[in-house]
Amino acid sequence: MNYDAIIIGAGPAGLLAATKIAKAGHNVMVLEEHEKVGEPDHCAGLLSSSGLRSLNIKPIADVVQNTVSGARIYAPSGHSIFIERGQREAFVVDRRRFDSWLARNAVDRGAKIATSSKVMHITDSKTGTRTVKTSNQNYDTKTVVIAEGIRSVLSKSVGFSVVSKSNKLPAYQYEVKGVDIEEDLVEMFYGRQLAPGFFAWIIPLGEGRARVGLAAKNKSKIRLDSALHQHPIISKKLKKAKILRGMGGTVLVCQPLSRVSIDGIVIVGDTAGMVKATTGGGVIIGGLTAQIGGDVINSALHEDDYSGKKLSRYDRQCKSLYFRELQTMYMTQKALTSLTDKGLDSIVRDAQELGLLDVVRREGDMDLQGKVIRKLVSDPRTFLLSLRAMRYINPFL
Ligand SMILES: Cc1cc2nc3c(=O)[nH]c(=O)nc-3n(C[C@H](O)[C@H](O)[C@H](O)COP(=O)(O)OP(=O)(O)OC[C@H]3O[C@@H](n4cnc5c(N)ncnc54)[C@H](O)[C@@H]3O)c2cc1C
Repeated sequence: MNYDAIIIGAGPAGLLAATKIAKAGHNVMVLEEHEKVGEPDHCAGLLSSSGLRSLNIKPIADVVQNTVSGARIYAPSGHSIFIERGQREAFVVDRRRFDSWLARNAVDRGAKIATSSKVMHITDSKTGTRTVKTSNQNYDTKTVVIAEGIRSVLSKSVGFSVVSKSNKLPAYQYEVKGVDIEEDLVEMFYGRQLAPGFFAWIIPLGEGRARVGLAAKNKSKIRLDSALHQHPIISKKLKKAKILRGMGGTVLVCQPLSRVSIDGIVIVGDTAGMVKATTGGGVIIGGLTAQIGGDVINSALHEDDYSGKKLSRYDRQCKSLYFRELQTMYMTQKALTSLTDKGLDSIVRDAQELGLLDVVRREGDMDLQGKVIRKLVSDPRTFLLSLRAMRYINPFL
């Protein structure tokens, strides 16, 4: 079978790239290893409304579980800051339904999707194009989009570098009912004892339900279980909670890979390290860059030139639009995780006392946080805050 583009992986990045390419009239096949698109899921499902608008998608009611208007961020001491940015700052979606809905959109635009189709190899074919092989089928194609998520087995096999192990954090999450929380606020809990390298979260789903999760350098499930019973704030909010289901996953805290295209192939989404390191969120930024990948493939197909040189426009566009933002978020996350609990307490307290939260409220963007971070860094009050926090850099890191 001959295709213009084979997309490997029916996550959001693969499906958004597929939609772009199919919409331009090209012959597209998406290959997904699982039986059902969107399953098994592992995501907290928090997506900014502005990000969804940039992606030019408006989730249908069936996909949306809740909307949130802001976040409460807890320091290890329990002291918290509240960042509210207006109604409907973000949607909480059910990723199983969200991904299936994206798949339906891709099919409506003309893409084909084959589930239970695990890609084993990508090889060069005799005609100078590529052959994508599943266990029972070969697909000849002019171009390939690798959207295999965090695993990066295929991208590595064709020569791309991969996100390093140290940038992958184990995560665990429960869906619970009977929680005592504010239904329109996301809550984030920081602390080296609680979640070294990341944080714990409570995301409200409405009607007393929530996703409660934690990612950390190690032992994420053990740490989460212990927080449910022992953390002074989390345990109180979940005192009467009943666990409905649990799910594990891997959160990426990384910068984008420096090369994301070669002859005939682009890598997108988590595979390319397109995530916000401050939160591990990758649906919006992975989707935006996957759409760029789709556009670049469209023009390559149009000109019948799938060379690395032609496809490198994808690298250049991602770099000029997003890399600075993503690198700034990565450096910020690294700086935060280098602090002891006292340092984190000091930052949260000082940010409030010095009036820096107004800058965040005014300038903050849930997805592209680089701008507000740079604004904060250039503020003399942040210099004072950093000087105070520097006393608490962990010397053992
Ligand atoms: C606990 C947790 C919470 C998160 N919360 C959020 C959040 O609130 N907001 C947010 O934006 N992001 C969140 N993320 C991150 C988000 O889930 C990812 O960034 C996003 O799913 C990446 O999309 P993707 O399409 O690149 O990869 P994926 O969604 O992982 O999709 C990859 C697809 O490729 C398929 N595949 C892999 N290998 C093959 C193969 N060989 N052949 C065929 N198919 C294959 C997989 O089955 C999968 O369906 C969270 C992640 C975790 C772990």
